[in-house]
Amino acid sequence: MLLNLGSINIDHVYRMPHLPAPGETLEAASYSLGLGGKGANQSVAAARAGARIRHVGAVGPEGRWARERMAEAGVDVTHVAVGEVATGHAIINVDAEAENTIVIFSGANRTLDAAAVTAALAGAGPGDTLLLQNETSAQVEAARLASERGLRVIYCAAPFEIGAVQAVLPYVSLLVMNEGEAAALRAALGALPEVAMVVTLGARGAEWLVPGEDRLSVPAFPVTAVDTVGAGDCFTGNLAAALDAGLAPAAAMRRASAAAALQVTRPGAAQAMPTADEVDAFLG
Ligand code: ATP
Repeated sequence: MLLNLGSINIDHVYRMPHLPAPGETLEAASYSLGLGGKGANQSVAAARAGARIRHVGAVGPEGRWARERMAEAGVDVTHVAVGEVATGHAIINVDAEAENTIVIFSGANRTLDAAAVTAALAGAGPGDTLLLQNETSAQVEAARLASERGLRVIYCAAPFEIGAVQAVLPYVSLLVMNEGEAAALRAALGALPEVAMVVTLGARGAEWLVPGEDRLSVPAFPVTAVDTVGAGDCFTGNLAAALDAGLAPAAAMRRASAAAALQVTRPGAAQAMPTADEVDAFLG
């Protein structure tokens, strides 16, 4: 089983002729609502990939909509609490040139605690996987508990924050980062840590690096990208699903790369995640 301690956001997207200047009041030309947050995106990606996935998270009273979208995608939301603190959300302003400004409020995502994690991990053990990122609270407690219980711990070090990364790192089985995050980590520590890691390189593919072993490079599949938002989450969700299902690293990386290639050919983040059948058909 795959468990994901992760953020759930509601994305409010407003389109407008220009971004508002300080003091300006501007009427938006359109408005749309989307499920977002790295955690929710990765859980939806993993569920569509066929994983048995339990999400550990929290939303506020107005977050039932997001919880339902995740359940519809096949995610077990039993451990997504509905509390009083506002649901995490992003206010995304997009102008006519597709330039944007984004304000994020973490809200309920930062109310998660060790008790919530302990309850969600009941019955999990060796052979199971915990996935986590940096958009919630309780990462260190979760990673420590999961590693003590013998779970595989996959940590996506995004958004990058060196203090958070250093605290979780001792419990990590596999660290997943994009190029920018890997560069920031190398700069902060003076070298990359001695841990198994995957570095994604956008349209140039991804690398699997294990200390003392040959590097495994997986090229990206050539596609015409229309929207790359959520590509990293698609890759990570599919990689975690494939490893949890017992695939070897090379096969898991290939599936993740194919899923992310399909995802970038469609608009949106969570809604663009491909199914296992679509990935099978793409790989031929
Ligand atoms: P984001 O923040 O946009 O979600 P990221 O920076 O975390 O993405 P990337 O390294 O950009 O992650 O992309 C993750 C993976 O998605 C890549 O390793 C690759 O497999 C796939 N990918 C990204 N862009 C493309 C593309 N243009 N064509 C094909 N595959 C792509």
